[in-house]
Amino acid sequence: MSQTKEVRVRFAPSPTGYLHIGGARTAIYNYLFAKAMGGTFYLRIEDTDRKRYNEAALKDLLRDLKWLGLNWDEGPEVGGNFGPYFQSDRLEIYGNAAQELIDKGHAYHCFCTEERLQTLEHGYDRHCRELASEEVQAKIASGEKFVIRFKSPIEGTTKFSDYLRGEIETPNKDLDDLVLLKRDKFPTYHLASVVDDHYMRTSHVLRGDEWISSTPKHILLYAAFGWETPVFCHLPVILAQGGGKLSKRKGAASVGDFRELGYLPHALVNFLSLLGWNPGGDREVMSLDEMINSFTLDRIHPKAVAFDEKKLEWMNGQQIRLLPDSYFAEELEKLWGENSQKKCLSIASLLKPRLKFFNENYISELKEMSKYFFIAPQKIEDEKAKAKYWKTESPELLGKVEHELGKIPIENFDIKNIETAFMTVCTGDIKLGDVAQATRLVVSGVGAGPGLWEILEILGKEECLKRIGQGLC
Ligand code: GLU
Repeated sequence: MSQTKEVRVRFAPSPTGYLHIGGARTAIYNYLFAKAMGGTFYLRIEDTDRKRYNEAALKDLLRDLKWLGLNWDEGPEVGGNFGPYFQSDRLEIYGNAAQELIDKGHAYHCFCTEERLQTLEHGYDRHCRELASEEVQAKIASGEKFVIRFKSPIEGTTKFSDYLRGEIETPNKDLDDLVLLKRDKFPTYHLASVVDDHYMRTSHVLRGDEWISSTPKHILLYAAFGWETPVFCHLPVILAQGGGKLSKRKGAASVGDFRELGYLPHALVNFLSLLGWNPGGDREVMSLDEMINSFTLDRIHPKAVAFDEKKLEWMNGQQIRLLPDSYFAEELEKLWGENSQKKCLSIASLLKPRLKFFNENYISELKEMSKYFFIAPQKIEDEKAKAKYWKTESPELLGKVEHELGKIPIENFDIKNIETAFMTVCTGDIKLGDVAQATRLVVSGVGAGPGLWEILEILGKEECLKRIGQGLC
């Protein structure tokens, strides 16, 4: 029958507040779907509600989308890049569209004042729906202010098929004569959204399920214009861990919050993509390409999903591990003025799995964690660990360790031989745990960290013997 349509999808935020996690997930799904289908993803700023417009929110929104890597594929040119489409630039188009509906008998001028509307208890009473055209012309000529309303059918029902939820039917009596064009000549969300989705050739509307109740109104508008409808796919809502809406009051809720907490953009994209979508199998940690290659709308489930911050934290750790060692090694070189790239790479690969966050504290955390690789401890700083692990027999055990490590030829001072040396010390009832903890304390000054053999190998034979011989306690 009809040819497969080119996939064109949009993210259409209103710049009224920060980019919420739910909005980001909507943007991610649109982006992944466009890429998966070889289609186009575009950004449309729905800024027609001038009372709620917020310049700072717009700036944050663009910054956050770019930070997440969700670049859009087209738009008006701004300084060599694609800008978003702004609805406020398209007022003439909406004005003409509203006029078109009047001409077709699907819309009418409404002159009711705010005061009158406030007295109505059950929504708009269609007071101006049947005004004679002479009367309308006279009112306009005398400068009376008006809105344009949709002449919504009173009888029957409106049906549409949601991609994930199937058929949804609404009695038309529940749909009022909604405003299309406001007194300030700005369109309402409903008119602008339908007109843009038509002229911008949107093939699929992927948006949060709070918009389901608006969709019948949109379907009626498409029909009134005589336009084909896009595919509607309403995404599951994201709930806070204990239920209820995810909001700032319950903790971090915006992309900016998570950036400040030290999450990597791809960790957030990866995590959010899984909130409602199942890539198949038990895959979780995925690259962007993997996500794109397995993204289909069929694998989105319509049920509400809970936000699990612990899981996001875990995901962040996983994504940090995927960053190249060289990234951290360079930081270490700068932090410690260290020239040995090899040493820094080894330390980086050892410490990387222990980093959880990537915010402004990260450098100081990395510095703290790597300190003993560059500076010998002057005392056992970790008092608690000292109380727990430092025993009367520790000096004697360290003597044995020093002796065994001393036997390893300097060029063979590696993990395997270090391990063998410790095993040799552990005869009779000498426990490896006691020997290793005592060694860790004097070598690093702290009671926990990465593998001891690895630490000793990086420090090298001479430095190890020096620190053990010094016998801090
Ligand atoms: N401007 C609406 C929003 O803020 C867009 C809804 C839609 O995608 O149609 O979410």
